[in-house]
Amino acid sequence: MDFPILNTTAYGHPLVYLDNAATTQKPRQVIDTLTNYYLTLNSNIHRGAHYLAEQATEQYEAVRPQVCQFVNARQSCEIVFTRGTTESINLVASSFGQRFLGQGDEVIVSGMEHHSNIVPWQLACERAGASLRVIPFSDEGVLDLEAYRQLFTPHTRIVACNHVSNTLGTVNPVKQITEIAHLHGVPVLIDGAQAVAHMAVDVQEIGCDFYCFSGHKMYAPMGVGVMYGREEILNQLPPYQGGGEMIKTVTFERTTYNELPFRFEAGTPSVGDVLGLGAAIDFMQQQGIENIGKHEEELLEYATQRLSAIPGIRIYGTAPHKVGVISFLLGGAHPYDVGTLLDKLGIAVRTGHHCTQPIMDRYGIPGTVRASFACYTRTSDIDALADALVRIAPMLL
Ligand code: PMP
Repeated sequence: MDFPILNTTAYGHPLVYLDNAATTQKPRQVIDTLTNYYLTLNSNIHRGAHYLAEQATEQYEAVRPQVCQFVNARQSCEIVFTRGTTESINLVASSFGQRFLGQGDEVIVSGMEHHSNIVPWQLACERAGASLRVIPFSDEGVLDLEAYRQLFTPHTRIVACNHVSNTLGTVNPVKQITEIAHLHGVPVLIDGAQAVAHMAVDVQEIGCDFYCFSGHKMYAPMGVGVMYGREEILNQLPPYQGGGEMIKTVTFERTTYNELPFRFEAGTPSVGDVLGLGAAIDFMQQQGIENIGKHEEELLEYATQRLSAIPGIRIYGTAPHKVGVISFLLGGAHPYDVGTLLDKLGIAVRTGHHCTQPIMDRYGIPGTVRASFACYTRTSDIDALADALVRIAPMLL
């Protein structure tokens, strides 16, 4: 495993990078793939009638079946490249909303969503005259499935829920959530932004209708993401953005649209980043996704023990099934102060509401400090965090 940036020295300390839920660092092979793309391959894809364009197109299109296999979709045309989870969800909320949401309709979201899986639905609801209904969760950070069942009405049109909470670390029972929705004939979108780097994802096993994720949280470059959609449902949706590539024919009177998945990929995509996503999948598969998950699970257990032993610490999100994310507060100290002091010791964590303000409101807190792990995190990183917290606590409490 070679992650050059992890050799950074921050304020005279070796960098301890514990902000992986925000973005993971990139392995050498992903960086090399990007560099090689711009050194040897750069060209606009599809319609190009020359050597570089053909090569670039071939390599770009080779990543599609790779992603298809990575999430076990039925076919490659169900894989749409986007800029990230946010764009993927906006695409679905916009197109699905236009086609299926009307006055008085309802959209179910969970109470632990990232703003990216709330606001696009609010926008779609505003346009349609529809409203949001919210699945509550317990103090531990577990969704209340009984309450969820009660939220369905004849007006429910779609359920949008994350696979893993970026703030609480909870792994949600997305298969069950999908089954319950399907009993009511309601499709389901899963926000997989925090899941794909930590566990094998099988969209057919989950049964969901849409699954969205970002490359940059799974060792790939920023600027690329995926929207998986079941073919039958994608075929019912109007295009999201208009422009090049998504059309079949254009006249000033009328435009006809391209087939899947190109109908949803308007304009020049970030070709190099898509190749980087392919390299990141190769990297993860070489490491073994199960191995990564197991390693992070052990780290989570170790970190939970070590942090819980520090006087004054409260951990938010203690669900039985979690990924390597620990949100906490240290006594009454403001999370930003904790983060700043840790930073000066070379420890990178995230502080604030983590784009989940409704979670903060649920607990009545302004934010948390969040440490999150990746395949390269070591127990020595956890020790550095715990030791630093013990050291700074007297300055804050
Ligand atoms: N959903 C979740 C659960 C996330 O953690 C994030 C990123 N923090 C997003 C959506 C948005 O991802 P992006 O910014 O890559 O579009």
